[in-house]
Amino acid sequence: MENWLIKRARLTPNRVAVQEKGQQLTFQEVADQTKKIAAQLNVVIETEQRIALIATNTIASYLVIMAVQQLGKTMVFINRRLSFDEINYQLADADISVLITDEDYHQQLKVDKQLTVSALSTEKSARLDLVENFPDDAVTSIMYTSGTTGKPKGVMQTFNNHFFSAMGSALNLGLTADDAWLTAVPIFHISGFSILMRGLIYGMRVVLLPKFDAHQANELLVNHHITTMSVVPVMLKQLLKDLPEDVSYNSGFRTMLLGGGPTDRATLKRAQAHHIPIIQSYGMTETASQVIALDAEYADEKLGSVGKPLFPVSLKIADHYGVPVKTGNIWIKSPTLTVGYLNQPNKLAEKCRDGWFNTEDLGYLDDDGFLFVQGREGDMISSGGENIFPDEVESVYLKLPEIDNIVVVGVPDEQWGQVPVAIVIDSKLSATDLKAYGREKLAHYKVPKRFYFANDWHRNASGKTERIKFIAEITRLKELK
Ligand code: ATP
Ligand code: MG
Repeated sequence: MENWLIKRARLTPNRVAVQEKGQQLTFQEVADQTKKIAAQLNVVIETEQRIALIATNTIASYLVIMAVQQLGKTMVFINRRLSFDEINYQLADADISVLITDEDYHQQLKVDKQLTVSALSTEKSARLDLVENFPDDAVTSIMYTSGTTGKPKGVMQTFNNHFFSAMGSALNLGLTADDAWLTAVPIFHISGFSILMRGLIYGMRVVLLPKFDAHQANELLVNHHITTMSVVPVMLKQLLKDLPEDVSYNSGFRTMLLGGGPTDRATLKRAQAHHIPIIQSYGMTETASQVIALDAEYADEKLGSVGKPLFPVSLKIADHYGVPVKTGNIWIKSPTLTVGYLNQPNKLAEKCRDGWFNTEDLGYLDDDGFLFVQGREGDMISSGGENIFPDEVESVYLKLPEIDNIVVVGVPDEQWGQVPVAIVIDSKLSATDLKAYGREKLAHYKVPKRFYFANDWHRNASGKTERIKFIAEITRLKELK
């Protein structure tokens, strides 16, 4: 395909491409500034094929991303909230020599060279001819999975992956010339980066929020022309908490794209009460963002479902061998599927059969073909021959106003093999109250046998509860009486 940035600057040069606080750039300005940064970067990274970035959602970072893409190099996105050890693991895994950060030099990081985005100032007048084409199958980004189930895996994403992802989303959400997408999810994660790519492909204004703050985001959504926002469940909850009852978002606001993890029904209901048009979605780093989405017109009727596959995507529920079953693994076939995991040449093939990818998430389709996600295969608790999905139990408890955070995990049990136990952060209710409530709403075997109390909540940069960390520390937690 023709270089997206050049093409975009030719098609709609004067449209605003990106905004952050008081600053904004048109597509022509982005193209001009990108050329300068690319020229400077080229001197530093001439021999490198991969460059790593640790960045916040700023225009400066946005331009560096554009510049790396324009040099035909691959950007390796590093989650800025990781520990130095975790970052070093990813830098070594991706064989990185040059790292660009938005802060000053970090001595603890093991790379030959570090640069800051601000050091790549646009003052010098050097210019470089940009690549003519974006080769369909070239890997433009490597992004690590959230690491919810173990060590993060480097996912290689091609231009084609991002293009089809943008197409699938536009065909589902529609597109108008005055669309503007608020980007408060991190740009080092596929949820954020995919918005930057959509911006280029659609000619759409991208509004960057360097750090998610519910109050600031609500202010933008109420008082400014913003049509779309991407959120993960924890962000939606914070937005709802901050939003006064009688206040609604600006009249142009048409989509709150929600995904990345399960959302409890109570939160969805609260969003409905505020007339926030939620589109539930399901996807992963490996599928370059959402691949399944619930159309707003079914929001009520199919509450709790993540919807149907986007136009370029196929979906089936099947067993481990890919044979269709009623309830089982979620398998995806999509042009947005990664071409592979970095340094793990067989891993993708192991998860695929006949072109279908096993997500290792579990779910079922209802009679109308709507997908309901039950949770991750690895999180399922098997108790006395019954399967328990932590998400279902958590969702029931989250209906209680006293419970903001809960995680349900399986622990070994002599009699039942495994039993569910829960960890909560709020101790206003006793374990006896919580069990009694559970027995009212759930089958007996699903009710947590014990409740523990945590002072801190382990969440990764995607806002997901880190179940494995809770499991690791459960013996040290205080039991709620
Ligand atoms: P890792 O693969 O390293 O363990 P991760 O799977 O959390 O981390 P991501 O690619 O960020 O990394 O997340 C994708 C996963 O998030 C999906 O496989 C699924 O388990 C979960 N998920 C995404 N959207 C939804 C949703 N709407 N409902 C339930 N789960 C979801
Ligand atoms: Mg995963």
